[in-house]
Amino acid sequence: MKLLDKVCIVTGAASGIGKEIALTFAREGGKVVIADLSQDAAKAVAEGINQSGGKAMAVAMDVTSEDQVNAAVAQVVAAFGGVDVLVSNAGIQIVHPVEEFPFADWKKMLAIHLDGAFLTTKACMPHMKSSGKGGSIIYMGSVHSKEASVLKSAYVTAKHGLIGLCKTVAKEGGQHGIRANVICPGFVRTPLVEKQIPEQAQALGISEDDVVKKVMLKETVDGEFTTVQDVAEVALLFAGFGSNALTGQSLVVSHGWFMQ
Ligand code: NAD
Repeated sequence: MKLLDKVCIVTGAASGIGKEIALTFAREGGKVVIADLSQDAAKAVAEGINQSGGKAMAVAMDVTSEDQVNAAVAQVVAAFGGVDVLVSNAGIQIVHPVEEFPFADWKKMLAIHLDGAFLTTKACMPHMKSSGKGGSIIYMGSVHSKEASVLKSAYVTAKHGLIGLCKTVAKEGGQHGIRANVICPGFVRTPLVEKQIPEQAQALGISEDDVVKKVMLKETVDGEFTTVQDVAEVALLFAGFGSNALTGQSLVVSHGWFMQ
């Protein structure tokens, strides 16, 4: 088991990519924390893991609230004894052309993606230091951490920003064995993407089928969606890696969309 008894907090783990990462980490022996805005859904994921012989707890957390983040991390440390892995994954999507982007939506996007990553990192790093064992911090970026698409100014800005945060945390955490890396998935069919298909069809004046084939998967090598399992495997690699050799990096998992 690659994560035996490691305490792993996954934000946004009640759904989609975060949920699959939590299930994967639990199978690898991790004590998994399902941190989400949606408390009922978080509890259901944690119960499922516990019923199948794993170890999990659910915590209510709005990643944009410093008080809620700090309280939830304190609750985890009291229950599980520390924090070894943080996956800052919670996220949403809001699409508009720049000129029509409501300022409130712009601020909401940056708050969830960037404030959330900052606040959870800030709350977890002291525990990774004090344990003497270091830890792994994983940010859920996107191909949009490297590339842009129309209508996604706030998302692209936030996802690019995560790379800067990651590199800084990798430098500050290095002497304490705290690693930081970014996963950059291509399109994955989660609720976040399902919601975008009709929205983009309307905004671009094309069919939903064309949004999938000509926008989302156009640049892939095989016209395939990335899966939640693909992303969870990369998260496991970053979480379980044994040294500082792998830090400050961002890895694209996207069926070849955006080759670096
Ligand atoms: P999803 O909608 O299935 O899950 C997102 C989860 O985040 C939900 O459970 C939601 O309740 C939670 N959440 C939202 N706001 C929150 C907040 N303020 N505090 C705590 N939890 C909150 O979406 P997903 O596709 O699994 O996305 C997960 C991450 O992966 C996001 O950061 C997203 O940008 C990123 N991503 C997704 C794709 C994709 O194609 N699906 C591609 C690249 C990156």
